[in-house]
Amino acid sequence: MNKTHHLPDFLGPCPGISPIPAFSDNYIWLISKDGQALVVDPGQAAPVLQALKEQELTLTSILLTHHHADHVGGVAELVEQTGAKVWGPAGEVLPVCDTPLSEGDTFEDAQLQLKLSVFDIPGHTAGHIAFYGTFGSTPILFCGDTLFAAGCGRLFEGTPAQMDESLAKLANLPANSRVYCGHEYTLSNMRWACTVEPNNPALQHWQAHASEQRSLGQPSLPSSIELELACNPFLRARQPLVAQAAANWAQRELTSPVEVFAALREWKNNFR
Ligand SMILES: [Zn+2]
Repeated sequence: MNKTHHLPDFLGPCPGISPIPAFSDNYIWLISKDGQALVVDPGQAAPVLQALKEQELTLTSILLTHHHADHVGGVAELVEQTGAKVWGPAGEVLPVCDTPLSEGDTFEDAQLQLKLSVFDIPGHTAGHIAFYGTFGSTPILFCGDTLFAAGCGRLFEGTPAQMDESLAKLANLPANSRVYCGHEYTLSNMRWACTVEPNNPALQHWQAHASEQRSLGQPSLPSSIELELACNPFLRARQPLVAQAAANWAQRELTSPVEVFAALREWKNNFR
């Protein structure tokens, strides 16, 4: 067995992008530059308004990935208080949306130095979108509740085949893309991932790092596409060891990657 493993780097936070914690484990991502700000998925208005005040920022834009209340609940009040414009998924019912977006559309803000492309990534919800692009020269991804660090969102409105395809789109993005997820689920996802792949050195390395970050009260995010490819079972359904573990758990033969993916999702749903 090959004992030299390449362990992915931890990219760390990107200056100008910070999490505003909301509810028990949501992150509202705040991007700011020269006094201007944008937020992604503001489930609550109060913590955003407080951050804007403390950092003396003007909110100009709100991006939404999907319609769930813990991602859009603060939008109406933020629009009322700040006049910010709202961009969100064309296929979903939202409290406010000035510009509906779907795959191939772009969002650009010259002052924030932000250029993002929209991807349709159904599965968690039917119209879920992701924003991928650059902040300055840094590649970034906002993926809501579709891709989590070492996990993925539950399939409330989509099929395993749709989610597998949506995750494959994200997996194809540049390896050094920072991944900004909607929730701090990392450690609990990793406990399950270590059950799926108990001998994955990259996962063990990342788990130790994330545990330390959490014990210091820091977010485990952003993740990166490279870390997810090396560690996230849902992106590794085509790896023989992952497929075998899923078949062992399901106690049946799994004949396609989508069947493996579906079994992994069911396994995670039942994992305590
Ligand atoms: Zn959701």
